[in-house]
Amino acid sequence: MSTSCPNCGSQNLRLKPIATRVCGGIGGVTAGIAAAKAGTAGAAIGSAICPGVGTAIGGLAGIVGGFLTGALTGAAVGHAIDRKIVQTFHCNDCGHDFAA
Ligand SMILES: [Zn+2]
Repeated sequence: MSTSCPNCGSQNLRLKPIATRVCGGIGGVTAGIAAAKAGTAGAAIGSAICPGVGTAIGGLAGIVGGFLTGALTGAAVGHAIDRKIVQTFHCNDCGHDFAA
């Protein structure tokens, strides 16, 4: 990599994980909404199998599973965007942030 800081010329840079965080958050929120629906579906299934306990476990499993899946998928997509599209760097010498 021949990228250097436009402010001080240093090559002591690191790639900032902006999209990873943003997409992970969006994925988590989106999944949270989907998880609420999945939780309802899980509760319905659990309720059919074992009323009471099954309802609670099914709902919880749907929400937790849905949220984790969404957050991980979002983070993975964000990481790919960071590597291929965004390319925002942080200079370790002067602290300058810039897009390559
Ligand atoms: Zn710099």
